[in-house]
Amino acid sequence: MASQEIEALSSVLARLPGLGPRSARRAVLWLVKNREQALPALLEALDAVSETLVECQTCGNVDTRDPCGICADPRRDAKALCVVEDVADVWALDRARLFQGRYHVLGGRLSALDGVGPEDLNIASLMDRVADGSVDEVVLAMNATLEGQTTAHYLAERLEEHNLRITQLAHGLPVGGELDYLDEGTLAQALRARRPV
Ligand SMILES: [Zn+2]
Repeated sequence: MASQEIEALSSVLARLPGLGPRSARRAVLWLVKNREQALPALLEALDAVSETLVECQTCGNVDTRDPCGICADPRRDAKALCVVEDVADVWALDRARLFQGRYHVLGGRLSALDGVGPEDLNIASLMDRVADGSVDEVVLAMNATLEGQTTAHYLAERLEEHNLRITQLAHGLPVGGELDYLDEGTLAQALRARRPV
């Protein structure tokens, strides 16, 4: 029977995606066994992140600085912008190092069912970013879901007035699939086969 504090740690960890109660108990057990090395490092890392975590005012990514590491990186191609629904999608695409441009996080997708309209997403800031003509290409990297594709069509229409190459991720994404869950090969194929909308 573990103490109240250890139980509390278990239940916090159990809420993490992909863990669950059983894995959380194993993680706690490991931390208890390796407390001298693992605990201070974990505490320090959590503390550093919780103190500095901030949303990038340019792209909507979450990082420990604003502008985020991607927006601040001068090696990135400022002329190419990849629009995604969620921060997880930025991380998935960037983990695979397939896209050399910058990102724009919408913060969701259009959904009549959930009452999510254009004004609820970071669309105005996207229009601001392309308005000065510094962007040549916008890649619409929405999820291959009905709502994701509706959002892509809406954005394509809004972006039409600008002198831009508008592209969209091609087949390679499974129907109903979400970017964050795809392997790098599938993501690479989808990015290579992107096409004008
Ligand atoms: Zn950013």
